[in-house]
Amino acid sequence: MLLPGLTLLLLLSSSSPSPAPPRRADIAVNFTDGMFRGIYHGKQCHAADIPAVLARAWAAGVDRIIVRCFASCRPFPFRFFLAWFLLSYGSDLACLISCFLGLVRRKVTGGSLKESREALEIAETDGRLFCTVGVHPTRCGEFEESGDPEGHFQALLALAKEGIAKGKVVAVGECGLDYDRLHFCPSDVQKKYFKKQFELAEAVKLPMFLHMRAAGEDFCEIVSENLYRFPGGVTHSFTGSAEDRDKLLSFEKMFIGINGCSLKTSENLEVLQGIPAERMMIETDSPYCDIKNTHAGIKFVKSVWPSKKKEKYEPDSTVKGRNEPCLVRQVLEVVAGCKGIADIEGLSKTLYHNTCKLFFPQDLDASADAQLESGIQNS
Ligand SMILES: [Zn+2]
Repeated sequence: MLLPGLTLLLLLSSSSPSPAPPRRADIAVNFTDGMFRGIYHGKQCHAADIPAVLARAWAAGVDRIIVRCFASCRPFPFRFFLAWFLLSYGSDLACLISCFLGLVRRKVTGGSLKESREALEIAETDGRLFCTVGVHPTRCGEFEESGDPEGHFQALLALAKEGIAKGKVVAVGECGLDYDRLHFCPSDVQKKYFKKQFELAEAVKLPMFLHMRAAGEDFCEIVSENLYRFPGGVTHSFTGSAEDRDKLLSFEKMFIGINGCSLKTSENLEVLQGIPAERMMIETDSPYCDIKNTHAGIKFVKSVWPSKKKEKYEPDSTVKGRNEPCLVRQVLEVVAGCKGIADIEGLSKTLYHNTCKLFFPQDLDASADAQLESGIQNS
């Protein structure tokens, strides 16, 4: 008897003379962000439109999306803001800075537990959507603010188990360290609860969805101490140095996630060239981290989608400045161009294979694996 996957491949090849459509995954989409409800800077600009966004993604060959709860992973220009602030309001610094810190801290009180639950609810709306459960480094204060850190952890664990039973939760995260945004959460709290979340991964035997910003040394030290506790991971939205890259690649089960924020400067592109395709995944980190015209990677982008300003919203167009999963194709194009890979679909297969290997190993039967492996040889 033929294996189910092989039967499917034979059926596909006998019934359709055209090659199978490309399959892509976007491993980081923040569908709980207000922009997907049409809200920009607190103002309603258009109706909620996740179905239209998904329709464009499916049409572009994306067939798996991992939804994570909102926490912008854009590098935060805090130093520039502070310099401007000091110059402008130098007369009453202590008061003004504390007001500012109070403001930014209040913005993050929604909590990763609550938004992990929302991410799961969204993932349940379509068979191609999946999600993560965990607490972002900038929000680790919520463990102690809850008044019962262990109870908070147990609630995360229960949610992860519920999502796994539903076939929706595929990773613990995103968690890690973000030293660019210590104003949201101090480093000692970030480290304490980064370590704690390996306990979560160990308990549910899931891979980890990781975030690392300006914290390479501490991050890699904590990962190496906990390697035995998780089956594998991806460090997403990578913007680090060549040294950071090499440290991450030294962990055999670690992948590196690339999005528009990873493609800003010529130095970013040089670092990217040193990441083997077999150790990489691509993502949009929508609605953020789009590839802007000022980014070094823009010269390799080939595909375009019609776009309209949010004030002139049309359901058939993307929104200018709002990233979305169909645009993961542009990340693929920059990776191919930057690495000098002509066979872009071969590269796409390799990246898709990496995603399945880490998050969807149950879907890789021998025949599908062989087909995807051929992509690796061609890239
Ligand atoms: Zn992140």
